[in-house]
Amino acid sequence: MNTHDSYQQCVRGPRCAEATVNPDTGERTGSLTFRPYCDPCTAHIKAKVQDLPVVYRELRAQYGIQPTLGSEDVRVHTSRVDPSIPIREDLDVLVTEIETTVASYEDRVRQQLGMGQAPPSSWKRRADRVERACRLLAERVTVLLSLPLEWMRIDGAHDERGGVDAGLDLLDLHHRADRAGGSQPVRYVVPVVCPQCRLPAGVTRVAGEDGATCLCGYVIGEDEYRQLTATLAEVAEAAR
Ligand SMILES: [Zn+2]
Ligand SMILES: [Zn+2]
Repeated sequence: MNTHDSYQQCVRGPRCAEATVNPDTGERTGSLTFRPYCDPCTAHIKAKVQDLPVVYRELRAQYGIQPTLGSEDVRVHTSRVDPSIPIREDLDVLVTEIETTVASYEDRVRQQLGMGQAPPSSWKRRADRVERACRLLAERVTVLLSLPLEWMRIDGAHDERGGVDAGLDLLDLHHRADRAGGSQPVRYVVPVVCPQCRLPAGVTRVAGEDGATCLCGYVIGEDEYRQLTATLAEVAEAAR
């Protein structure tokens, strides 16, 4: 099996993490591997899958999943969220695509490992479902990237897909989600309530930077910001 014949160029080709560059032509060639993806590219895909739930939550916070009134313990009030925050249909579509794609590949990996399907009830908490699916996909990245070609439901359609597609699909999804966040206005209002002054619509964030700042001067660090957007997503789930 491990003869030189079974080695081939990494699927990512010129984008391969260990691509070699031809000094004469400048042409980039993916490293040789006996799996579809070379080891550094496998690690790269794993890292992006691990980061996907973070990007997902940011997108949801940005396109304005706004919790409804009623939960007193959480100080988020829909009526006072800045109405100028636009609802972005394209982000909504992307968010749904992330949810369905990771769930589809989770099903394939579970099937491959004889694990049985993911609990269906968890769709109520979609953010948690995305988080858990991505954790499983990252842990079983080798299984994921070696999936055989099979017909499967993906993003609302039926298509024949295997491990090679899984890697490219997930990288593409992360890339688009990341860019969608980055294409926001340079500084934009986020529907997160400042933990210090509790004034709504005072927190803004600079695209591509970690954390956020409030009008009162309070700086929300990266971890705290992630926590706040996670809470926001959960409140939105619970309110549905
Ligand atoms: Zn590679
Ligand atoms: Zn504040």
